[in-house]
Amino acid sequence: MNPINRRHFLCKVYQAIVACGAGHFLSFSDLIQAAESPDTEKPYLIWLHGSSCSGCSTSFLDLDGIPVTDVLTKFSRLVFHPDISLATGNDVTKILDHMPQAHTPYILILEGGIPVAMPHACMMGGKPIAEWVSSLASKAKFCIGAGTCATLGGIPAMHGTETGSTTLQAFLKQRQINTPVINLPACPMRPEHLVYTLLHLIHQGSPPELDQKNRPKKFFKRTIHERCIYYADYQEDRFASKIGEEGCMLKLGCQGPVTRNDCLIRGHNGNTNTCLRAGHPCVGCASPHFPRRIMLHSYGDERAMTNKKDQWSDV
Ligand code: SF4
Ligand code: SF4
Repeated sequence: MNPINRRHFLCKVYQAIVACGAGHFLSFSDLIQAAESPDTEKPYLIWLHGSSCSGCSTSFLDLDGIPVTDVLTKFSRLVFHPDISLATGNDVTKILDHMPQAHTPYILILEGGIPVAMPHACMMGGKPIAEWVSSLASKAKFCIGAGTCATLGGIPAMHGTETGSTTLQAFLKQRQINTPVINLPACPMRPEHLVYTLLHLIHQGSPPELDQKNRPKKFFKRTIHERCIYYADYQEDRFASKIGEEGCMLKLGCQGPVTRNDCLIRGHNGNTNTCLRAGHPCVGCASPHFPRRIMLHSYGDERAMTNKKDQWSDV
């Protein structure tokens, strides 16, 4: 295998930028310029985990075979990420304590919810994550909610949990912190959405155009239903009655009509597949209804609806 040279590497980085949709405001020469500019001119990025499974980080760090940190480090300085930073223990808390006083522009990314009713459920350096978010967000230039837990509630806020998990935007509102928030729902968040948003914030100095829920319109303007490959079936009343049958999956509980995301255009894992193309209804991972109390696999199933444990074994 030939060793990768600098130009080849930058071409691959630029391919990732274009794949995210940022090619219309960021040229290859912008990338070269950014790669050659001193680090001191680049804004800081801080990534925190609230109540989360780290799925958004995992998805993000594996963007299309490109180490995504290589894209970001051309344009920014990643100060802290819980999964990939070498710093641990007191070094981390010192860095994060220093940031709000440093007068250096930074962007705060939060993955996961904030457990306000049970602060000890999510601690870092002996301090509840809520306090870290509060102090860091108040001086950040922008905040980004990464994934459904941070933006719409998701699994940490589902029925029956007692942590009082709240979203980044709701939390900042409660604390009267006015830093602009950009929301990137989906479980997990699509890595392209975050790369595009960060590049827009850094290179253009402003968020991309947002909808009423602070989501970039570029990605969340249309519902899954509007772009679905089964839309013609829906119009012709051809409905599947079980998974694997041809036809629209509305009667299997598909959440496509109430979910906004562009996964039918981009696909997952390098566009290998998506839920609907794989023959599964949309579970609404980017919608405020996610996760539903009765999930799709058990939709309409009397045994599952009764929610009796012993009857779940063969569902
Ligand atoms: S399968 Fe879902 S998203 Fe597709 S047309 Fe039917 S209801 Fe709409
Ligand atoms: S089809 Fe629905 S559940 Fe699947 S990734 Fe898209 S929004 Fe999420």
